[in-house]
Amino acid sequence: MSNIEQTLSIIKPDAVERNLDNEIKKIFQKNGFRILKEKKLKLEKTEAEQFYKVHETKPFYNDLCTYLSSGTIVVMILEKENAIKSNRDLMGATDPAKAEEGTLRKLFGKSIDKNSVHGSDSPDNAKIEIDFFFKD
Ligand code: UDP
Ligand code: MG
Repeated sequence: MSNIEQTLSIIKPDAVERNLDNEIKKIFQKNGFRILKEKKLKLEKTEAEQFYKVHETKPFYNDLCTYLSSGTIVVMILEKENAIKSNRDLMGATDPAKAEEGTLRKLFGKSIDKNSVHGSDSPDNAKIEIDFFFKD
């Protein structure tokens, strides 16, 4: 049975500042993702804190929110069959050093924090994250 899903993707500041956003968007499209909506923006720290609220008890939370709000990001709604898992597979492991060859984080990630891309991890979170950026 078909399972077309939408997921939220973010091209993070480390990748946008290296002008990798077009190259990453082409890789998504080559892998069958349709970019339904996209925008380029910079978050306030408080907005990053809200976006990453699930991580608020983690030791890396403050640095993570400072980082996500440190520069321009590109946010996109991606659509594809099983888009959520498909995007997680294409992104690779959180730590680029542990990511598989050919994954976005292996190709472009600099470190576990500056790992170039975000992708929703479940249907519930995809909906919450899409609404966070595109509810209007
Ligand atoms: N992160 C970090 N240090 C860690 C773990 C995670 O800086 O030890 C950052 C990293 O940028 C990661 C984000 O926090 O992408 C969210 O962590 P999560 O475990 O949800 O990883 P993801 O879902 O992005 O692979
Ligand atoms: Mg996550």
